[in-house]
Amino acid sequence: MKNKITILIIASMATLIALSGIQAYLVESAYQLKKRAFIQETDNAISDIDNHPELDSLVDVLAEDLRINLGDYKNKRLTKVEVIQKLHAKGDSINIPYMKRYNKELKAIDLGYKIRYKREVSSIVIFNGQEADTIFPIPSQKDGAILGENFENEDSHIIKTSRTFTEFNYVVHENDSIFTNTFDVELKMRDIMKITDWKSIVYRRMATLLICSVLLFLFVVGLFYYSIKTLIKQKKITEIKTDFINNITHELKTPLATLGVASKSLKNKEIRNSEEAFDHTLNIVDRQNTRLQKLIDQVLTNSLSANDIVLSKDTVVDNEYFDDLIADFKLSTQQHQLNIINNVYTEEVLLRIDTFHFTTALFNILENAVKYGNDQTEILIETSLKGNEYKIQITDNGVGIATEDQAQIFDKFYRVSHGNVHNVKGLGLGLYYTSQIVNAHQGKITVQSEIEKGTTFTILIPIN
Ligand code: ATP
Ligand code: MG
Repeated sequence: MKNKITILIIASMATLIALSGIQAYLVESAYQLKKRAFIQETDNAISDIDNHPELDSLVDVLAEDLRINLGDYKNKRLTKVEVIQKLHAKGDSINIPYMKRYNKELKAIDLGYKIRYKREVSSIVIFNGQEADTIFPIPSQKDGAILGENFENEDSHIIKTSRTFTEFNYVVHENDSIFTNTFDVELKMRDIMKITDWKSIVYRRMATLLICSVLLFLFVVGLFYYSIKTLIKQKKITEIKTDFINNITHELKTPLATLGVASKSLKNKEIRNSEEAFDHTLNIVDRQNTRLQKLIDQVLTNSLSANDIVLSKDTVVDNEYFDDLIADFKLSTQQHQLNIINNVYTEEVLLRIDTFHFTTALFNILENAVKYGNDQTEILIETSLKGNEYKIQITDNGVGIATEDQAQIFDKFYRVSHGNVHNVKGLGLGLYYTSQIVNAHQGKITVQSEIEKGTTFTILIPIN
């Protein structure tokens, strides 16, 4: 059984881990999908701005300026670096109207969140027949001209790339002669956008999914925890019930066996003829019958819970009540070495208790002190008044109860199985009944104990 539960726990844990792995994977996939969809959506929304004629014409101004500069480069009046520097300068000069127009268009779309946008030159190459001459990028000039906002490319998205291939004419002055030459220019540009808050926007869009999956996960964990806890509890109850059945069978066996022998004897003619032997056997039958009756009564009354118990309260004076109780208990026990110290509160206090039930409850504690005590059992009964509460403490010098068992001794059928005292008979009902009676009196019962030193039961009952 224990192995099965361990296997179950391990299997549940493994399932839970696998399940959370799958869930994490699904959430991650959903996140990527949402992210892509969001970027695509933004891209679609702003793509038309690029084609705006005013913006296009500004780009044309830049291209025209570049053409003139490339002609100068071809005529060796400018170096590559100077061409790019001039491109930058031109870009900067038209950037103000460019951005003004762009932002105006962006405002008209009303995205609901902020984006940053730029258009940058990514490469300029001159083709002369098969010969390609890269003007940009070159090792000393890596940054192209930019229209729009200048920002780092990290975490940004390219929304469009364009490539134009144009034929240019330029005038060559050579050895006093003037002629025109043509060259082809490949100009690559790209549009880049950056959504400032994209993470929080995507997270917000996924909020329901995230919250649901976290809740679901917690629910499953809770369910696992609860099931396993219940299983362990059930297992304990089963064990305790088995123990109880073993105990009660054991208790019933002896009187039944004796009754069997006695009834057999009664069939014997010799015994029937002798009055003395006959009486003796009848006495045995009677005693065993009483013992069985007592046992059944014990099970019946001690199994009652606080709700089943109907109290009929009497008013008693504490001193007198405890004197009688101790005297009765001494009579009922066969242990002669028993020493009961009566330390009851000296002033008279009126208690409202159901004497029958309350006495049985206290007897159960006193019986335990004898059952789980040593040869020189000493029991101290102390009482005191604490505000509105009457405190009864019963202390013994017996075997004691381990801390881990203390919380459970008031449970129905619970018995501590400590090696040598396991042979002490009992059903595990005594303290259950005591606690139920104390509860029915609106009281509290607690235990303090130390192994091999002794045990103290404390009962608090309210007095009005
Ligand atoms: P019964 O139903 O016959 O009283 P029981 O004595 O075994 O059976 P409880 O009186 O409910 O059952 O006690 C529960 C367990 O608590 C006992 O089995 C015993 O191990 C432990 N216990 C109770 N009182 C003491 C005590 N004074 N000293 C040591 N152990 C005790
Ligand atoms: Mg007992």
